[in-house]
Amino acid sequence: MTGMAAKPLAAAAIAQLESDGVATLIGTVVNPAGLTHAKTVPLRRMGAFADPGLGASPVWHAFTIDQVGIAVSDAIGPVGDQRIRIDLGALRILGDGFAWAPGAFFDQHGAPDPYCCRGALSRVEQRLADAGLTAAVGHELEFLLVGPDGSRLPTHSWAQYGLAGVLEYEGFVRDVTEAATGSGVNIEQFHAEYGPNQFEISLAPQSPVAAADHLVLMRIIVGRVARRYGLRVSLSPVPFADSVGSGAHQHFSLLKDRTPVFSGGAGAHGMTPAGESAVAGLVAGLPEAQATLCGSVVSGLRVQPGHWSGAYVCWGAENREAAVRFLTGGPGNPHGGNVEVKVIDPSANPYLASAAVLGLALDGIERELALPPETTVDPATLSAEQRDSDGTVLLTAEQSTALDRLDRSALLRGVLGDEVVDAVLAVRRYEQENFGDLSPHELCDKFRMAWSV
Ligand code: GLU
Ligand code: MG
Repeated sequence: MTGMAAKPLAAAAIAQLESDGVATLIGTVVNPAGLTHAKTVPLRRMGAFADPGLGASPVWHAFTIDQVGIAVSDAIGPVGDQRIRIDLGALRILGDGFAWAPGAFFDQHGAPDPYCCRGALSRVEQRLADAGLTAAVGHELEFLLVGPDGSRLPTHSWAQYGLAGVLEYEGFVRDVTEAATGSGVNIEQFHAEYGPNQFEISLAPQSPVAAADHLVLMRIIVGRVARRYGLRVSLSPVPFADSVGSGAHQHFSLLKDRTPVFSGGAGAHGMTPAGESAVAGLVAGLPEAQATLCGSVVSGLRVQPGHWSGAYVCWGAENREAAVRFLTGGPGNPHGGNVEVKVIDPSANPYLASAAVLGLALDGIERELALPPETTVDPATLSAEQRDSDGTVLLTAEQSTALDRLDRSALLRGVLGDEVVDAVLAVRRYEQENFGDLSPHELCDKFRMAWSV
C-alpha cells in the first residue's frame, strides 16, 4: 500500500472506528522466540502505523524468553532501524476502546524485511499459489489458567474434558466466546482439556497468514478476559513439570487447482497423489523443522511418547500419537480431509510453524515423494524393529539436537530464508546456553509465563 492510497483509506476507517468507540490501536508482531510484541497508537495515528510504519530496532527479532536477554549476532545488533507496518485489512475491534491489527516488518523504503516471520509465511503462501495450491490452516490453542503470579489454581472441581471446568470458569468461557464473536474470530469449539485448569479453543480454518493473525488475536482475547477474572494464561508447552503439556496443533488442507488433495482421490484414505506427497514431505522433513515447531528450551519435556504430542515421526489416520494425524474427509469432517501436525507447541512462532509445515508439504509435492507406510497403532506399542522398518523415528527431546538439524537443513533454509533460520537459532541457542542445565521443575517454573500475553 502506498502512502497516497493509505491516507484516504485510513481517514474513512478512522471515522468508522471512532464511531465504534475505538480510541487506541494495538499492533502486534511475534518474534522468532515466540514472544508477542506490541506498539500502541492513538487512533488518529493509524494511517502512519500502516504506512510508513513505526520504528523498531532489528533486535526485536532477537529478544529472548527470559524477559531481559537479546541474542545479538553479527547480523542483529543495536545499529539499524526497521518499520512495523500494520495490516489494516486485518484490523479487528477488541472492545473497551481498543482495536488491534497484526504487523509485519519492512525496511525504511517499504521492502519486506527478511527476518520477518509473518513475511516468511506470506512468501510460502505465494509459492503455494505459484504452484496452483491454496492452503487453509486451522489453529488449536491449548492453555492453562493460573494465578496472577503464575501459581497453580485449585483443582477441586475438575475432570478431564469435564463440565466441571466449564462451570467453574463459566464467566471466563462466556466472556471469551462473546469477545471472539465481537472481534470476528470464529471459534469452532471451546472445552476444558485433560489437564487441571487447561482449556482448548479450536479456530475455523482460513488462509495461512490470516489464520495465524487470528491465533494471535485469540491469545489477546483470552489474556484480556483472564485478567478480568484476576487470572492469567500460561502458554508454556509444559506449565508444570509434573502435569500435562499444552500443544498448539495446526490443521491444514490444500486445494490443487481448486480441488482438494486430501479427499476425493484414489489414494490412501481418499488422498490424491499430491495429497500423499504432501504428507510424505511433511513426515520426511519434520526432524529438520522441529526447532521451528517445538524448539524452546521447555519444549523437549512435552515431546515424549504417551503425551499426544506426536513425538513419533510417522503418519496415521486419526492416530493421536503420530506426528502427522490424518483426518479423513466425510460427513464427520465437514472441512474435508485434512492433516493435523501435533508436535507444534505454543512457544513456537505460529507464522513460522505454518511456513515450515506448508513448505515441507510443498516440497513433498514438488518432488512427488511416495507416502510412507501408515502407522495404525500407537507407535510406542510397536517393536523397535517394526518402527525401523517403517522408517519411524522419535523426535529428539534435546533442544541442541533439534537446533543443529535446523542449522544444517538446506530445505528449511530454502523455505524460511537464512535470516529467519539464523534468528531462530540465535534466540534458541541463547536458551540452551543459559538455561539448558536447569532441571525440568526449574525450567517449567522459570518459563511458565514466558509466552503469556
Ligand atoms: N495436550 C496435548 C499436547 O500437548 C494434546 C491433547 C490433544 O490431543 O488435544 O499436545
Ligand atoms: Mg487438545
